[in-house]
Amino acid sequence: MRMIVAGNWKMHKDHTEAKALLGAMKEMSIPSQVDVMVAPPFPFLAIAVEELKGTSITVAAQNCHEKDHGAFTGEVSAAMLRSLGVGACIIGHSERRQYFGESDAIVAEKIKTLLQHGLIPIYCCGERKEERIEDRQFEVVAKQIQVALGWADGQALRQVVIAYEPVWAIGTGLTATAQQAQDMHAHIRQLVRTQVGDAADAVRILYGGSCKPDNAEELFANADVDGGLIGGASLDAGQFAALVRSAGSA
Ligand code: PEP
Repeated sequence: MRMIVAGNWKMHKDHTEAKALLGAMKEMSIPSQVDVMVAPPFPFLAIAVEELKGTSITVAAQNCHEKDHGAFTGEVSAAMLRSLGVGACIIGHSERRQYFGESDAIVAEKIKTLLQHGLIPIYCCGERKEERIEDRQFEVVAKQIQVALGWADGQALRQVVIAYEPVWAIGTGLTATAQQAQDMHAHIRQLVRTQVGDAADAVRILYGGSCKPDNAEELFANADVDGGLIGGASLDAGQFAALVRSAGSA
């Protein structure tokens, strides 16, 4: 399976810094079996598409609205993203759930809309710290996947990228152990298999949560870890390039 390394810049970088980082990414050497994606903030998407033209890097958004257009002040639609040349979109990130009240029911609508417009949804799921302490992580993630993706057939699910991001590991410096990641990724793949059979083998499942050059190799080596969704380390061209290299040797 091809690996994916996707950078989520969140709400970081100004115009000049964004251009500099995109310029550095353009120079990065990308192993042939790795797909690289980058998700800058909305104002820099057009610049990213322009700057990365001629490379294999896919530009992704960090969110979108489920409707194509309408009176939704401050929102951006999948149709708009598509018209710009954006190829993917992170959906259901835990920060969207925590600070903007996004539910899996809404996320399911967004995923359907993205697929209708030919964009790759990068669907984020993962348990919170207290849920892990109570050993409820498998049940919590199963419920998230059931609500967000339970409607999908094999053809739809093959287009979806799933990112397992334990909330307690995001931006905290705490990383899931390679075993914790593998156990959850295998669980997710089994859930998908129960739903759509062998199409589960084509679904890429990324790990996210303080993934850095010094722990990536161990994480990416797991059978069911098909790459990473990278926050902090994607803001530095050198660290991001090192992660891409690790994925290439996994
Ligand atoms: C993320 O926000 O998706 C993420 C994984 O962040 P970090 O790598 O900074 O933990």
